[in-house]
Amino acid sequence: MYSTLIARLAGEIAIKGKNRSHFEKMLIENMRGVTKELGVKVVREGGRIEVKLNGADLDETVTRLKKVFGISSLSPVAEVELDMEQIKEMALTVVRDALESRTTPITFKVEARRANKLFPLGSPEITQEVGRHVLGNIPGALKVDVHNPALKLIVEVRETKAYLTCDVIPGPGGLPVGTSGRVLLLLSGGIDSPVAGYLAMRRGAMVEAIHFHSFPFTSERAQEKVNDLAKILAQHGGRIRLHNVHFTEIQRQIRMHCPEEYSITIMRRFMMRIADRLAYKRKCLALVTGESLGQVASQTLESMYTINNVTNMPILRPLVSMDKVDIMRIANDIGTYETSILPYEDCCTVFLPKNPKTKPKLYEAIKAEEKLDIDALVEEAIEKTESLIFSRDS
Ligand code: ATP
Ligand code: MG
Repeated sequence: MYSTLIARLAGEIAIKGKNRSHFEKMLIENMRGVTKELGVKVVREGGRIEVKLNGADLDETVTRLKKVFGISSLSPVAEVELDMEQIKEMALTVVRDALESRTTPITFKVEARRANKLFPLGSPEITQEVGRHVLGNIPGALKVDVHNPALKLIVEVRETKAYLTCDVIPGPGGLPVGTSGRVLLLLSGGIDSPVAGYLAMRRGAMVEAIHFHSFPFTSERAQEKVNDLAKILAQHGGRIRLHNVHFTEIQRQIRMHCPEEYSITIMRRFMMRIADRLAYKRKCLALVTGESLGQVASQTLESMYTINNVTNMPILRPLVSMDKVDIMRIANDIGTYETSILPYEDCCTVFLPKNPKTKPKLYEAIKAEEKLDIDALVEEAIEKTESLIFSRDS
């Protein structure tokens, strides 16, 4: 019955003025990206975006598009010829479909829009005729309420066809991935950083990810978990390039040459230095982390200050003010939680000190690093970094 999906743009895009077409183009590209194997056609049609299903499965298409940032809502529409009899019959089918499993009567309204001024009936007449037909043929199930209906049938009479829909499926809102430039996400296997990546994407950032592993102390399985998280993030439009950094040698050196209570701080400073260098190489304009203020020892303000000091890049911390329960809820909603809680080791847990400093001093951290050849270690880690690209399925 449904041949097309209409995608409405998030309000923020609609008010972009001259830039609007740039946002739309990116959105269309992302919509095509996540639906490419389905054989649908995404086109700009009369000021909005339409997805011609071409026989593709409606539910699967909706499931994929519901994750594309920049879409405020989706509606499956049925198309018929510009003929009142056909319009009325399809109206009945569409409403019946929407009522399918309901047993109690619901409030209902028809709303007609006539873009095609050559069509012989005006909007009020279309509304009346269609309304009468539907109410007459589904007795008892519908109660007219023009102000606040639970079910609204929209009939649009356009140039060559009439479109009918009564379902509005909420989209994720936000801005299309890629419209805000590129960022580098520090992606661990934990709960927080995938959520931070998701939120950065929702604001239009194209995310690349960097992951630090301590192979052989961290396993293949731990790496697969991070790969899986990258794939989940890639469902929101675009692809995720993941840079895997061998961090073992740096951790070994820290362990040999630095005071134990500063090892976490120094390790984080190295993560930042490497991320900073890689971001520059990859033309990313900010780093993103899953830090939340006060959550753990390395996320006190003193700690952030001391760790942040090695880079001049903006560091986006989308979770900074969130409680863990809020973060977990988002992780659940976006489907990363189950993967994040898989119990594989992380490089940070492998070399965990007994008493990490919760308020590390910058000058102490600098002193503690004295015996390390920082530039050489960073250089070597960058050289050995391996990069992979993930899309939603691979
Ligand atoms: P997460 O759940 O994201 O691992 P966390 O609560 O475990 O966060 P930390 O271990 O203090 O917190 O890490 C803080 C941030 O540092 C992470 O959110 C992530 O952005 C980054 N980070 C930590 N470990 C790694 C890693 N192995 N690779 C890349 N980034 C990391
Ligand atoms: Mg962690």
